[in-house]
Amino acid sequence: MLQWQPYVLIPLVGAVACAIVGWSAWRRRRSTPAATALTFTMLGLVEWGVATAVGISFTDLRLQTAFGLAIYPGVTLVVFSAFWLCRAVVDRDSRFSRRAKVLFAIEPVAMTVASATNGWHHLVFSTTRLVGHPSLLVPQVGVVFWLHSAYSYVLLTIMMYRLVRARRTATGLHRRQITSVLLGCGFPITANVVTLAMYTGGGSVDLAVVGFAGSGLTFWWALFRQGMLQLVPVARSVVFERVSDALIVLDREDRVLDLNPAASRLLRQIGPRLPENLVGERSHLLVPGQGPGYRIKDGEYVVQAGARQIDLDVRSSELTDRSGASIGRVVVVRDTTELNDKKRELTAANARLQDQLRTIDRLRADLAEQAIRDDLTGLHNRRHLIRTMEAELARAGQTGGPLGVVLLDIDHFKSVNDRFGHAVGDEMLVAIAKVLASAARQGDTVARYGGEEFVVLLPGATPDQAWNRAQEWRRLCASTFVPTGQDRLRVTFSAGVACFPESGTSAAQLLHAADKALYRAKAEGRDRVLLADSLAA
Ligand code: GH3
Ligand code: MG
Ligand code: MG
Repeated sequence: MLQWQPYVLIPLVGAVACAIVGWSAWRRRRSTPAATALTFTMLGLVEWGVATAVGISFTDLRLQTAFGLAIYPGVTLVVFSAFWLCRAVVDRDSRFSRRAKVLFAIEPVAMTVASATNGWHHLVFSTTRLVGHPSLLVPQVGVVFWLHSAYSYVLLTIMMYRLVRARRTATGLHRRQITSVLLGCGFPITANVVTLAMYTGGGSVDLAVVGFAGSGLTFWWALFRQGMLQLVPVARSVVFERVSDALIVLDREDRVLDLNPAASRLLRQIGPRLPENLVGERSHLLVPGQGPGYRIKDGEYVVQAGARQIDLDVRSSELTDRSGASIGRVVVVRDTTELNDKKRELTAANARLQDQLRTIDRLRADLAEQAIRDDLTGLHNRRHLIRTMEAELARAGQTGGPLGVVLLDIDHFKSVNDRFGHAVGDEMLVAIAKVLASAARQGDTVARYGGEEFVVLLPGATPDQAWNRAQEWRRLCASTFVPTGQDRLRVTFSAGVACFPESGTSAAQLLHAADKALYRAKAEGRDRVLLADSLAA
């Protein structure tokens, strides 16, 4: 006979809740590995709840007993699936091996068979009776029931142990998720303990299904609301957990929602006194010396991390929900110290190279200068004189402008060498060179032509002007003395002046003309300047 009793609502409400949660989990099984386990847990609970509800709707002891035993396929499925669920929450990549699947199937099958055949052995329920009105089943439980309970609690204990252990090392959302699952386990444990106590005490309706419905809802929340980053579970674990860049997920108020181990490590290097759990903290607390108004900004920073300075590159990107509204941002912090060190090294190497190039340029210029200079006097050498003379003549040829050439020869130089030594002779050469160089004007070229002979080019100088310039040098030299050790020696020179175009048009012609004039000057008594004959003469 059927009876109405309000107790029927307890397992029925539980079963309906479990069915909804199970269905929702089943639809999301592809995005979250633990969802399938949650579905099977809920499936077991639906069976358990429905069998319980149907059982207590009968007044007949035999039928109530039969349905009381019919819950075990569901019960054992719940125990196994909950174990599976916890494993998946702790380690997203976990899979059961074939052997494990077979081993885990033993208890549910054995228990189902044992409850189906209880009529023969009475090892699950040894006796049953109905108490109260409306009547409730009160079984006297047997050894198989206790074995099943022991097995279930062993699995439960392992499960809880694993969750607690995993929670210790987990970070961010994963940690919160594990916490929720642990709290969710509390419902059925409480319900089951109460039910078991009532079994031994007196009649009761099984509260476990309702307890499990509570945990089902909690698990669902943990998997699908807290585990929002699990949509691509492998990507999350690989990219988020293992990437060397620091990743910090912030909500709209700039509170930390999650952070990866690299971020945790980095932040603790920068601020060693950070609280242990950074999730939920305001972002300004992550950066030493910042006040509440601070928001982490993109850019490049140099910060002190312990004893060393590190370069950080901070980039953030907005996180939006499906409607495009901002829900926060992900901040990516990259340690660019090594990269920047390399850049700095490269810049330094480049600077060194530039410096070397400048030195090389200078040396080359020095060498080029040396090649056109006379070692002893520092005046231009003969080679440079000829080249310059040719260039000046070419220009003078174009402009028709005059060019004066003065050839000087020191008087009685040989006797200076002979009387005072070569060193004094050299000093005299240097002294004359100094006089000529200091008297030179812009555009003039003063060169040492040979031993004690000098040539001065005077672009733009007419014969008269050139002669006057040479006379001026002669006077300057007359007041120049070279110390000999015993005496001070006066210097004189003789000079011949030749000019373009009067005395010649080529370097050779002009030098020859000047040399002839010089020769005459020597012959006429030295210490004088003579003009070369004009070509016409
Ligand atoms: P003058 O020209 O007045 O006729 O007489 P001089 O004694 O100067 O005659 P000459 O031109 O023959 O002598 C040139 C001397 O210059 C010969 C050589 O010993 C000397 N001489 C040439 N080059 C150098 C030099 O670099 N250093 C020194 N100390 N003497 C040099
Ligand atoms: Mg000479
Ligand atoms: Mg001479």
